[in-house]
Amino acid sequence: MKVPTQEIKILNSTVKVFFRREDLIHPFVSGNKFRKLKYNLLQAKKEKHHTILTFGGAFSNHIAATAYAGKKNGFQTIGIIRGDELAFKIEENPTLKFAQDCGMKFDFVSREDYRMKDSLDFISNLNQKFGSFYLVPEGGTNSYAILGCEETLTDDDTIYDYICCSVGTGGTIAGICNSASPSQKVLGFPSLKGDFLQKDICNFAKQDNFSLISDYHFGGYGKVNEELIDFINSFYKENKIPLDPIYTGKMVFGVIDLIKKNYFPENSKILLIHTGGIQGVAGMNLKLKNKNLQTIQFDD
Ligand SMILES: *Cc1c(COP(=O)(O)O)cnc(C)c1O
Repeated sequence: MKVPTQEIKILNSTVKVFFRREDLIHPFVSGNKFRKLKYNLLQAKKEKHHTILTFGGAFSNHIAATAYAGKKNGFQTIGIIRGDELAFKIEENPTLKFAQDCGMKFDFVSREDYRMKDSLDFISNLNQKFGSFYLVPEGGTNSYAILGCEETLTDDDTIYDYICCSVGTGGTIAGICNSASPSQKVLGFPSLKGDFLQKDICNFAKQDNFSLISDYHFGGYGKVNEELIDFINSFYKENKIPLDPIYTGKMVFGVIDLIKKNYFPENSKILLIHTGGIQGVAGMNLKLKNKNLQTIQFDD
């Protein structure tokens, strides 16, 4: 699979910035979610499963991706969704509506119960309810997912000094760390608050050639402000590249800010990984509209 790379114009700087357009892999299956599911689906087939079960929130890219990829590959899919109030809101939630149209069945659980989702009790209850299934963890991150994410970088990518990506559960960056060459520096931009990520990533990454830059989460997971929305809209106007507000928007905002602050040595070559996530824009816009705030606009 050859994914396009696009140069971004940066004014008043000697650094060169390139964008790997993993978002173009598929409009609904986010680039990195596709990679994370690839070897999981192969494993599920090998184990002769008919059903994939996974977990996610109301606007989860992973839920949308699993529903779509499951359907394409002949699996029944089940989504355990965080928030029992959502059961009555499927029609007004673009992500859940899409997943349902792909044939995904939902089980809505309270936020309290959702916190227990990794416990044996919780899983055995699910087994009683749904029979046997292949379980993919929240965000899709497990060792098969890391294998898939290792394919993000190709042999030609050794020309870049820095690889930058957004971080949620840390699976994507772990795969990138594993396939980066030792001379390359991987920079991760967490989209959420919390100091557990460093350890989580080290569990999966074979090299510690990465740094986390934690200054650009904008208050936490799913949080945005006017400055970020403005940035996403003007970035689209200038480059015709859509960014999502949960992950890639924050990462690119961070990279551009670091360039302004001369973080990168002169003439550095920087590769940004566009992990996708554009399906989540519709849901975010609904929320912004409800609060009478500026929305994300990708029309010309
Ligand atoms: C899930 C997701 C991420 C985070 O990936 P992790 O492997 O969980 O760190 C980044 N970008 C987008 C668009 C995503 O959907």
